[in-house]
Amino acid sequence: MKCPFCGDPNTQVTDTRENDDGEVVRRRRRCVRCDKRFTTYERIDLKLPHVVKRNGSRTEFDANKLRASMELALRKRPVSTEALESAVEQITTRLITLGENEITSPQIGELVMKELKRLDKVAYIRYASVYRNFTDVDEFSSVIREMQQPRQQPRQQPRSRRERSAATPVDTGNDLFDH
Ligand SMILES: [Zn+2]
Repeated sequence: MKCPFCGDPNTQVTDTRENDDGEVVRRRRRCVRCDKRFTTYERIDLKLPHVVKRNGSRTEFDANKLRASMELALRKRPVSTEALESAVEQITTRLITLGENEITSPQIGELVMKELKRLDKVAYIRYASVYRNFTDVDEFSSVIREMQQPRQQPRQQPRSRRERSAATPVDTGNDLFDH
């Protein structure tokens, strides 16, 4: 840190103090050359990117909105509040560590789907069906197939394309769209 009085790059830290909540570090410094004193403040620069929506408008990232949309997908699913919170935190941290000024809402959607896929397949499909409108039919079918097959069973041979495209939610016989 250069001395603001004489510009000398050699300054000594004479005192270091954190504020009560530990968010700011205050340092007293002394210039080795002109002996003048000054103070510097150190803060963590945590910035969330702005969200660019599909229509091009920009908005602040809102973790509450994110949580609400995930809660909707997880309705009546056996996923704890703690697990949801940790997923929300995971996504938020990811957004911060990206260090970008802007992120698109589809990019956030992808992060959400990644977390939901890990948490609960049904919630994942609910979310994806709304978010992506299942433009990727093959992916939809493969997730449906995963849900139909208990993990212990060996994987079935790939079915024909015709059969795969017939794998609609109605055929699953579970509570997929019971909401
Ligand atoms: Zn100086």
